[in-house]
Amino acid sequence: MPRIAVAGFSHETNTFAEGLTTFDDFLRGRGFPGLMSGEDVVRTLKGKATCTGAFLDAAEELGFEALPLLWTFPQPSGLIEQAAYDRVLAMLLEGLEAALPVDGVLLELHGAMVTEQLEDAEGDILARVREIVGPQVPVIATLDLHANISPSMVEHAEALIGYDTYPHVDAYERGRDAARLLMAAIENRARPVGALAQVPMLIGPPRQCTLMSPMSDIIALAHEAERREGVLNVTVAGGFPFADIADCGAAVVVTADGDGELAETTAQEIAGAMWERRDDFRVRLTPLAEAIEHALRSGEGPVLLADGSDNPGGGAPCDGTVMLQALIEANAPRSTVAIIADPEAVAEAIAAGVGRQVTLRVGGKTDDRHGPTLALTGYVRLISDGRFANRGPMYTGVEADMGRTVVFVVGEVEVMLTEQRIQPYDCQALRCVGIEPRDRLLIGLKSAVHFRADYGPLASAIFEVDTPGIHNPDVTRLHFRHLRGPMWPLDEIDRLT
Ligand SMILES: [Zn+2]
Repeated sequence: MPRIAVAGFSHETNTFAEGLTTFDDFLRGRGFPGLMSGEDVVRTLKGKATCTGAFLDAAEELGFEALPLLWTFPQPSGLIEQAAYDRVLAMLLEGLEAALPVDGVLLELHGAMVTEQLEDAEGDILARVREIVGPQVPVIATLDLHANISPSMVEHAEALIGYDTYPHVDAYERGRDAARLLMAAIENRARPVGALAQVPMLIGPPRQCTLMSPMSDIIALAHEAERREGVLNVTVAGGFPFADIADCGAAVVVTADGDGELAETTAQEIAGAMWERRDDFRVRLTPLAEAIEHALRSGEGPVLLADGSDNPGGGAPCDGTVMLQALIEANAPRSTVAIIADPEAVAEAIAAGVGRQVTLRVGGKTDDRHGPTLALTGYVRLISDGRFANRGPMYTGVEADMGRTVVFVVGEVEVMLTEQRIQPYDCQALRCVGIEPRDRLLIGLKSAVHFRADYGPLASAIFEVDTPGIHNPDVTRLHFRHLRGPMWPLDEIDRLT
């Protein structure tokens, strides 16, 4: 029975974020043990809708021995402290050496990890794994749709298999694809070779959403290409635009069966199709006042306001106050803001106690780019441990931990104050503190796109609102210095270079 090493080492690094991501951040994780090894990985992730969950299930289905090394995926945040990266990587590589001999390696990576010294951390991880297993042992990695894919990543893996969905509801399927292709490579039924076509486009997250055109059209083209003779996988990465690095941007990776030229021409074809559609990829945000006015006029909820600029799922602080302030000023009835991460305000609300009136200083404490700290007088409706498990279609079954959570009511507006920065993409984030999304007129969410999977079917309208922040869906609002060359839409270039 083939022996396959399995590991997950993921982070989405927003290089615009304040502060460094430390080893403690990897340890803390989000809702379950942050940094796991061996049997803990199996206990926590087997059967869950994640890539590693699929790797572990595939062991039984396809008949291989899975050797779980390590798994970690903290909340997205700023540059990773070099020592923290080195320490986690050393743990992974030591585990791999101890597991030798192996017949293959399955890695769950993100693709947008940046450290103090490495712009392309995944390229480094794959190169170091390759060094240990040698050129004959196939290595396949899964990637998030927000990967910034580099030539080095493609060079050091037999195949890279990225999500086809945003909201990411296909992690399990892509994990299974990776395991199947790895087994085919081990058993000499396939000879995967990859080609990369980077696309000089920085696409704001809302237009990377695969539920709508143009991204859905590009994914459809990728799926059509995957049905062609000799094409094993087509991965379209929208890219993670909040990383000021040379390899930032959209990319296409095609894996073909022993045919490098087919991989190359197919990748170029799909990259060209993205480029042709660039005008459709332009992000247009709605002023907050306009979105709130729409909800008040229609009276029909829930109207969802996506505060993508302060999305903790892309490394933003999640304590931005601009949306909250607008709702309070409008005294918008039946409105909820999910969430503001502010451990200080949570502690003060808990000290005041349930049912008490208190004045809190809320949000705006991480930096000066997401609105001011607000002095708010309100009522402490509920205090919770903030723990829930996802029931929606994304990472179903995976546990989340908002930390101690307070529902604080200011006039007509209720705001969830939490200790942890968590993207509330699953309705359970609200339901676990007694808020039924269907009963609300307005829900402000610290999420760019992921919320659409679970809240979308309930919504009467969705607005991507224009707020400031380091995860601004309109990437022209950010200042880049390290991009590799002209990049749409920052530089309006005429042809694919
Ligand atoms: Zn993503």
